[in-house]
Amino acid sequence: MSQIPTVECPTCGAPVEFTAENKFRPFCSDRCKLIDLGAWASEEHKIPVAPDAEDELFSGDFDPRH
Ligand SMILES: [Zn+2]
Repeated sequence: MSQIPTVECPTCGAPVEFTAENKFRPFCSDRCKLIDLGAWASEEHKIPVAPDAEDELFSGDFDPRH
């Protein structure tokens, strides 16, 4: 008796049988796999906001030494 491990599809959350036969794992389908890859690609194309830009604004208005 062997139980097939299941994972949640990262794209749609559907239960996916994590087997060697499932070439789309951990995704439920080729479509979800492509959607996830597309999401990653679009993330990389976003222009990151400088993390210290806001800090500089605050330090100009507020001097902690006073
Ligand atoms: Zn899915």
